[in-house]
Amino acid sequence: MASAALISSLLHKLSPESKILSDAESADFQASMKRWSNYNLQVPYAIVQPANENDIVRTVKEAVSAGVPFVPASGGHSPWSSIDQKGVIIDLSRYKGVSVDAPNNVVTVRGGTRMKEFQAALHPHKQFAAVGNGNTVGVIPYYLGDGISAYTPFIGYGSENIVAAKLVNSKGELVVSEQQDSELLWGIRGAGQFLGLVTELAIRTKPYSLLGNEDGQRMCGTYIFPIQSLDPVCAALETIMNSTEHASAGHVMIVQAPPDFKQQALLVAPQAFCSATEAAKLFQPLIDIGPLQQTLAPSTFDKHSDHLDWVCAEGDFKRFTQTGLAGWSTGNFKRLAELHSELVKNCPDAARSGYTVEWHTPCRAKRQLKCSFGNENVEFWLNLLSWYTDAANHEFVDAMDRKAQAAMREGTKEEAFVSYTNTSREDPIEYRYKGTGTVDRLRALKTRVDPAGIFTKQLL
Ligand SMILES: Cc1cc2nc3c(=O)[nH]c(=O)nc-3n(C[C@H](O)[C@H](O)[C@H](O)COP(=O)(O)OP(=O)(O)OC[C@H]3O[C@@H](n4cnc5c(N)ncnc54)[C@H](O)[C@@H]3O)c2cc1C
Repeated sequence: MASAALISSLLHKLSPESKILSDAESADFQASMKRWSNYNLQVPYAIVQPANENDIVRTVKEAVSAGVPFVPASGGHSPWSSIDQKGVIIDLSRYKGVSVDAPNNVVTVRGGTRMKEFQAALHPHKQFAAVGNGNTVGVIPYYLGDGISAYTPFIGYGSENIVAAKLVNSKGELVVSEQQDSELLWGIRGAGQFLGLVTELAIRTKPYSLLGNEDGQRMCGTYIFPIQSLDPVCAALETIMNSTEHASAGHVMIVQAPPDFKQQALLVAPQAFCSATEAAKLFQPLIDIGPLQQTLAPSTFDKHSDHLDWVCAEGDFKRFTQTGLAGWSTGNFKRLAELHSELVKNCPDAARSGYTVEWHTPCRAKRQLKCSFGNENVEFWLNLLSWYTDAANHEFVDAMDRKAQAAMREGTKEEAFVSYTNTSREDPIEYRYKGTGTVDRLRALKTRVDPAGIFTKQLL
């Protein structure tokens, strides 16, 4: 069997620090398979944990020549980083690292580094970069598929800040993108997961001072309202979202209020890049409505997502999709609340699900690096987190996700539909990559660098 031959051949070729796990009952194997979600989780023939770049190159090369399919895994938050018994997972958790070149405003991130590790490495240098809302999310896949963040008003999306990449291609060769292949680097900025295994990314950083203070601080509010306050809350939010005085980002979430998850509620979490006094003034329209609970506190870049650690819990069935929206619509958001209610009523085990709209104010910086994603000007995202435990509910949850997406797209022409490639791979490719000729250009690139679809069949 090809997989068995591959594994026995790799045993003698990888560094002693690497690991090859082929006993599905072993603690190491099971630890690697503990993922953010059990949805679509498949058990591979073996897991290879390379310890350095040579190990990765060797593993890819041998797997390609043996005809054994494989998938890379970094933070393990997507439904696409596991594979069935025919293949192997290249788990990058033993190969990590962040090097900060502060004078040149560049950070290099390697392998399976996660968000919190990335933030912790940048913090002493008082520099920031795009980061997602989850401490355990893998940095490289997040950047490859674009990278939506609260810092978009200052630096654009994550992909727009990739200055160089090292990638193992479908022949098992290590390519340094900016020197050898500028078209590949453009493709990596938005579609990198489909072009090779990226061992290293160099990312542009910015000084904390760009955020208006020396501590990398932003003000984070939390305001909880009964669902009956939806109309005034939406009106207040529009004032905050449209303020041109202060850059802001945030979430308005439709949830079942903890601790008993029985009543539907609105959890509004605006974030503003200004002083505490200015933030209190900016968020005053929300306070005037009379929230059930409220807090306003500073948070720094190194602690960016600490308050969201509960969302990073492993296990259960979870699905997360992000859908770009043309703008804010209170009417559509009302319909979203009804659909959330329908989900929870029919699937009580899905009570921890949240239907959310995320926003950021427009990017103030001049866009410099062109990326293949093409959605640079999207400022609103529908975030659907479906979190449930009963496998019998897969289809219903999926149908509700589709309905929620359709409701929030009401009034938008199909050619303007935006899906997020980091969280959706089934929607038409034209929803995921925008701009004249972008899809054709990406397809040509894919056909050149990975004609057999070693790194997914996407774009072929
Ligand atoms: C709780 C949570 C919060 C999130 N918050 C945000 C957010 O704020 N903004 C945002 O934009 N997105 C967000 N996301 C989406 C996230 O960016 C994507 O799911 C991302 O791809 C996950 O990366 P991962 O390494 O954790 O997942 P993995 O499942 O390990 O990897 C994702 C995909 O990339 C491939 N891959 C892994 N490593 C490599 C590599 N080195 N080279 C090439 N391909 C590779 C995998 O095979 C898989 O197909 C969030 C997701 C979750 C679950």
